Amino acid sequence: MAERHVFGFGRGWADGDGEMKDVLGGKGAGLAAMARAGVPVPPGFTISTAVCNLYQRDGAVPAAVEAEIAAALAKVEAETGRRLGDPDDPLLLSVRSGARFSMPGMMNTILNLGLNERTVRGLIRRSGRPRFAWDCYRRFVHMFGEVALGIDGARFEALLSEQKRRAGVSLDTELSAEDLEAVTRAGLALVEELTGAPLPSDPREQLRRSRDAVFDSWWAPRAAYYRQMEKIPDDLGTAANVQAMVFGNLGPDSATGVGFTRDPATGEPVLYGEFLLDAQGEDVVSGARTPEPLARLAETLPAAHAELAATVRRLEGLLGDLQDFEFTVERGQLYLLQTRNGKRTGTAAVRIAVDLVAEGKIDEKTAVSRVSPEQLEQLLHPVFAPASLAALTPIARGIAASPGAAVGRAALSADAAVLAAKDGPVILVRPETTADDIHGMDAAVGILTAVGGASSHAAVVARGMGRPCVAGAGHLDAIAEGDWLSLDGTTGEVFRGRAETLPPDPRSPAFASLMAMADRIRGDFGVRANVDTPADARRARELGAEGIGLCRTEHMFFAEERVRHMRAMILADDEASRRAALARLLPLQRADFIGIFEAMDGLPVVIRTLDPPLHEFLPPRDELQLDVARLAHATPAERAELAARHGLSATELDLTLPALLARVSDLHEMNPMLGHRGCRLGISYPEITEMQVRAIAEAALEVTRGGGRPVPEIMIPLVGDVAELRHQRAIAERVIAEIESETGIALGVKIGTMIEIPRAALTADAIASAAEFFSFGTNDLTQTTYGMSRDDYGKFAPRYRELGIFKDDPFAVLDPEGVGRLLEMGVLRGRGARPGLEVGVCGEHGGEPRSIAFCHRIGLDYVSCSPYRVPIARLAAAQAVLAAAGESGGEARRTV
Ligand code: PEP
Ligand code: MG
Repeated sequence: MAERHVFGFGRGWADGDGEMKDVLGGKGAGLAAMARAGVPVPPGFTISTAVCNLYQRDGAVPAAVEAEIAAALAKVEAETGRRLGDPDDPLLLSVRSGARFSMPGMMNTILNLGLNERTVRGLIRRSGRPRFAWDCYRRFVHMFGEVALGIDGARFEALLSEQKRRAGVSLDTELSAEDLEAVTRAGLALVEELTGAPLPSDPREQLRRSRDAVFDSWWAPRAAYYRQMEKIPDDLGTAANVQAMVFGNLGPDSATGVGFTRDPATGEPVLYGEFLLDAQGEDVVSGARTPEPLARLAETLPAAHAELAATVRRLEGLLGDLQDFEFTVERGQLYLLQTRNGKRTGTAAVRIAVDLVAEGKIDEKTAVSRVSPEQLEQLLHPVFAPASLAALTPIARGIAASPGAAVGRAALSADAAVLAAKDGPVILVRPETTADDIHGMDAAVGILTAVGGASSHAAVVARGMGRPCVAGAGHLDAIAEGDWLSLDGTTGEVFRGRAETLPPDPRSPAFASLMAMADRIRGDFGVRANVDTPADARRARELGAEGIGLCRTEHMFFAEERVRHMRAMILADDEASRRAALARLLPLQRADFIGIFEAMDGLPVVIRTLDPPLHEFLPPRDELQLDVARLAHATPAERAELAARHGLSATELDLTLPALLARVSDLHEMNPMLGHRGCRLGISYPEITEMQVRAIAEAALEVTRGGGRPVPEIMIPLVGDVAELRHQRAIAERVIAEIESETGIALGVKIGTMIEIPRAALTADAIASAAEFFSFGTNDLTQTTYGMSRDDYGKFAPRYRELGIFKDDPFAVLDPEGVGRLLEMGVLRGRGARPGLEVGVCGEHGGEPRSIAFCHRIGLDYVSCSPYRVPIARLAAAQAVLAAAGESGGEARRTV
């Protein structure tokens, strides 16, 4: 049997089906699926995509296909009870393109085909509405002239405008039947004048030419360009869908409308949409008349409304997702013209996914793969009301460093931010941030920096605080103190002015259900949080963290009174005074650990020993140099100001300030990121490691005595050589052993290391001999693998973005080919030397969905991210598990 090229469909039957998108195109497959499901669609047939290629090759549609078309047309005539070209009761047709992939902008459509001088009279008789019939004919002449004959559409529009002017009216709807007849005749004359021949009056020829025009449109330059851009192969071809016309403008028992099976903003399970009585599809969207809510259709056309509600509900069940549909009621008879998966907000996405599971329409895996991490993010952070952004001027764009929308007045320094925050919301605007800016960041509702990337200080701290942040936005000179700014940390955009924000909604029951489903799917692929305070630990646990993957102990030293002890420790000349300062820090740190262990009772808490270079805790060198210079000639008032700012007494000033400068100069480094930091500090000053381990062990002891179940783990940062780790490990083991033997309580503290220097990954087998767990610090590992400072990257990142040198920002999305290979090597070598070694990731990538999928593929045990990203990570982890099992394709297969 010859290959079939024409696939008919009608009430309750179809030759094709919903899976045949390659053959029927997206639209044709959708129509076939609906028809098969018994949904009332106007009958018709789809000419396959292969014919498009045959037509291109041969310059004509093969005779065998013409015969198939004739047979399919006869079926449409039989089902509608009308014939094409019948002068008494003509069948009218539409012809539409429809490729495998939607290609907006190239869709060619011709409506009302089948009209001519004789059939228009039949249409008038049948409808009893001359105005309607002439309007149909007018539209056909316009569309056929434009699409099939290549005449500029504006020429037909001009004829319509001219007639309105003559009739003295301003709206199309005010034109009479006679006016529309005149426009139609003028259009026919225009065709003859421009093409040298009359518009074909034979409906079959009209059909052939319309069909060929649809195929030609596939090869038009704009379509070819679009395909090249979207990487759609040329030889896919488009299908041509021929369908009986139905009319929503045949009187008060006709209507047309659009809708959703559920509210696409909230997800509420109510029929949502609008319609117009006695109107055509385009009237609903054109805004010429105000449509009515769908609920009103139940009053005006109750039978049609009931059938519509039942039909779309059934369609939704069949397709397993929210449907966005178009319908027409022609003299009381309902027709569905189109249905497709509907777009929705994050809130609606979660609610709909969960409700569809409860209704038995989809399974949990489908529900979890249906909600994107971006949609979930909308629930966790405020977003801008899109309409309110339209009026604002974009002034900068940077790296979307910490999600959420924030509106406030610009403050150009941390101190200014704290002051201004008393009067209203503030956005902290800085070239970049340092530990000195923490109080300003805390006072601000959003943070904006000129330089720095996705793992710069600003980004890491803002994410930890759950504060929106845009980093590396370039020159911000145009922003003045007090300017109103609207900052979108989800997109990286910054606007001048005040946008309206919509609040987050993370506590809905639907959110909790979806998270529970995600947790069941991800199983033992864990999600932990990066947390530095007891309050954040509680928050992280509420959001579902299964432990702490990284506690950055230095963040505990930034608070006002602690930094004083920290400075005293750093400025100490000898070990004895250093130990004295450390002794004052110990109880403070122990108290924090107690709070964190209590919040995370029974769950692992990985605590990292001090990491950043010491000068981060001291005033900046330039500032000190200035102050020391001023000291010589200072007035008493100025001396008082200097003393207050440095927390010194007036008598201390003359001695201490120069000493401070000398120490700061001493500690000054050309490249602090690669300098005296990480385990190097603990090796230079073992007493720091000692104090920290003691604080951890004593805290664990106290919580244990109170009946709690602390699970402390100690992590050594920035190790490149196993000897460094051994050194620090020996100290930790000694302190723990001392405490255990004093108390007789076994603490069982594991000691592990960060893998964040390429050499650590390369020698992971040796390192594993001294580490009970690994955690990849992908921030430093990315920085050191690329040899690209995470703080300076923002300076050239815009250029890299512009040129597309990096497909993704490697500080935001884990680089699978380079950095990722080091991770793989680290896992293999580490577990080779120590089978079953626990391995996680705690760099910023631990909260990024594609990086999470990579971590799952290479066999990591868990990811760890800032508390506010924990839900995103739980969802992304579940999706990674589904993808690995090949079970996340549900969405694509289900579109109509
Ligand atoms: C890392 O380097 O990835 C890491 C988690 O540590 P930090 O960002 O504190 O250097
Ligand atoms: Mg690091």
